[in-house]
Amino acid sequence: MARRFRALREEPNAAYDAVVIGAGVGGLICANLLARAGLSVLIVEQHFMVGGYCSTFRRKGYTFDAATHFYPLLGNPATITGSLLSELDITTDWVRMDPVDCFHFPDGSRFSVPADFDSYLHKLKIEFPDEAENLDRFFGVVRKTYLIGLMRYFRNVETERIAPYKDLTIREVLNRHFRGEKLRLLLTGDIGHWGSPPSQTSFVFDSMLRLSYFLGNYYPRGGSQVFVDELAQRFEEAGGHILMSSMVRRILVRNHTAWGIEVETGQGRNRKARQISAGVVVSNADLHHTLKQLIGSELRGRCRHRRLQGLSADCVRSGPRAGRGADCHHSKADRYRLRRDHRLARA
Ligand SMILES: Cc1cc2nc3c(=O)[nH]c(=O)nc-3n(C[C@H](O)[C@H](O)[C@H](O)COP(=O)(O)OP(=O)(O)OC[C@H]3O[C@@H](n4cnc5c(N)ncnc54)[C@H](O)[C@@H]3O)c2cc1C
Repeated sequence: MARRFRALREEPNAAYDAVVIGAGVGGLICANLLARAGLSVLIVEQHFMVGGYCSTFRRKGYTFDAATHFYPLLGNPATITGSLLSELDITTDWVRMDPVDCFHFPDGSRFSVPADFDSYLHKLKIEFPDEAENLDRFFGVVRKTYLIGLMRYFRNVETERIAPYKDLTIREVLNRHFRGEKLRLLLTGDIGHWGSPPSQTSFVFDSMLRLSYFLGNYYPRGGSQVFVDELAQRFEEAGGHILMSSMVRRILVRNHTAWGIEVETGQGRNRKARQISAGVVVSNADLHHTLKQLIGSELRGRCRHRRLQGLSADCVRSGPRAGRGADCHHSKADRYRLRRDHRLARA
C-alpha cells in the first residue's frame, strides 16, 4: 500500500519552532496539535515507517501489528480521545471489537471476552459457577475503586475513600476473593499490558483500566498503519516536516534549556550529523532513552534520574500512576509471558 505522506526529500530547515523526536502515535498527535497552532514543526523518526508501537509489518502475505492490537475509546466520538481525532480531521474508520480479547490457557481451553460487561460477567459465572458470588463481590469492589480512582487521578479530588485500596495489589485482591487458579489466571490475562506482574500492580490502577475496556475497544479499518499514516498526512497538510530514517543523537542544552537537536541523517556515505535549533524539543522516545542518551549531564542531574532505574518500559509510558499504591516503581522484563505461564500469573 502506498504511504499517504511524502516525508522530507530535501534537507530540513536549520531552525523550527518545535522539534518532535519520534513519530509514534504520541509524537504524531503532539506534532499535529503544534502545527495546527501555527508553529513550524519538524518530526524526526529513526525508522522508515511512522507509528512506533502502532505500526504494522508484513510477512508472507500476512499483516502483523507491531504491538497495539486494540484502541480503547478511539472510535467513540463522545470520549476525549475520540473527539481529539475529529478535531484533527482523522477520517480512519473504527471497527468496534466484540469480543475484545481471547485468552488461551495452557490446558488448550480458551475464553473470549464479550464487549458488553453484563455479558462478560454472565459468561464468567457460567464458566466458574462455584465462584459466582465471589465474582459479584469482586466486581462490586472493582466498580467502587474505579470510580474513586477516576475522581482522585483524573479529577484531582482528594478523597479518604481511596485509603483502604491504595496500597493493595491486584494479586492480593484476587487471592482474597477467589479460590480457583484458572479464574485468577483469566482475571490477570491483561496484566501484561500494565507493565508489572500482578503482585506489583496497583489494584486502583488495575480497576481503572479493567473497566475502561467496556467503554469500547476499537480497531482501525485497514490496520494500525492506516491510522498513523493518516496522522502523518494531516501533519504535512498543516505544514509540518517529517524527517524519516534519521536518528536524534542528542538534545542540545544550554543554561538548563533545550535549544535544539543533533541528528544523524542521510543515506550511506552521505549520512552525517547535523544540528537543528528549536524553540521547543518534545521527546516521544521513551524516558530512559531520553534521559540517559539524549540529554546531557547538565539536565540529567535535575531529573531525579535514579528513581527511573526501577521502571519497566511500559510503566515509563503509562506514567506515574502505574504500579503499587498508584506510584510506579517496579520492573519486570517478563510481562508478555503471563498468558502462557501459570507460574508468572501467580507472581
Ligand atoms: C506488545 C505491546 C502491545 C500493546 N498493545 C496495546 C493495545 O492493544 N492497546 C493499547 O492501547 N496500547 C497497547 N500497547 C501500548 C502502546 O503500544 C503504546 O503505549 C503506544 O503505542 C506508545 O506510543 P508512543 O508514541 O508513546 O511511543 P512509541 O510507539 O514507542 O514511539 C516512539 C517513536 O520514537 C522513535 N524514536 C525513539 N528514539 C528515537 C531517536 N533517538 N531518534 C528518532 N526517533 C526515535 C521510535 O522509532 C518510535 O517510532 C502495547 C504495547 C506493547 C509493547
